[in-house]
Amino acid sequence: MPGSVKTEAVVLRSMRFGEADRILHLYTPHRGRTSAIAKGVRRARSRFGGRLEPYFRLHMVLYDGRSDLMTVTSAQTISGHPRLRESAASLDSAARACDAVSRLFATEDPHPGVFALLCNELALLDAGNGAGNTHATHANQLAFRLKLLLAAGLAPQLAACASCGESDHLSGFSGSAGGVVCSSCEASGFALAQEAHEFLTGALGSPLADVPRAGELALRQADRAISETLEHHANVRLRPALPG
Ligand SMILES: [Zn+2]
Repeated sequence: MPGSVKTEAVVLRSMRFGEADRILHLYTPHRGRTSAIAKGVRRARSRFGGRLEPYFRLHMVLYDGRSDLMTVTSAQTISGHPRLRESAASLDSAARACDAVSRLFATEDPHPGVFALLCNELALLDAGNGAGNTHATHANQLAFRLKLLLAAGLAPQLAACASCGESDHLSGFSGSAGGVVCSSCEASGFALAQEAHEFLTGALGSPLADVPRAGELALRQADRAISETLEHHANVRLRPALPG
């Protein structure tokens, strides 16, 4: 039945449409990823101002009529994350985070935890800027992806060999097996240094604000572990976690 929907939302993408409109991809707590059209938003005196831009967190009222797209009736800013926009690295991290949510949670299935995680990530990228301590790092992006995997029910098995259950000599990682593998089962995966294994375990277990440190080689291995898990179990290939 047609009617209005009140929801919080993060703008994932904002695309020009026609003369003066925009189509928005939104992530919401209870309607997952959804789309809406904002009419007249590109006119100078639009009542929406500049609020319907990527990475804004908003209170929205959407009209759900008979068409595929809902229509934006109103939008109030909760946070525009202005400091995030002052640094190319933070903007890039925010774009990768939104892209990851968009691809891994592409339906209207509700995942309020994913919405909270995305809001947390955007707030961290915003807060880190200017203080000289940025969260726009490879480690942060990997930790964010690991938490998305956890929310999707796809967290890699890290405590014992994912193939045979052995709890010692865990020296590899296999995306198809779904976690770390022991030296006997390593042929199904690639070598994973202890530091990378510790990073994966630590990042899953700590808040995004306190992502463990790790060297570049360990981070590259952790990155590969996350990418192969996503490819094997979610059939999703994300943009690289690092630019370049
Ligand atoms: Zn094994």
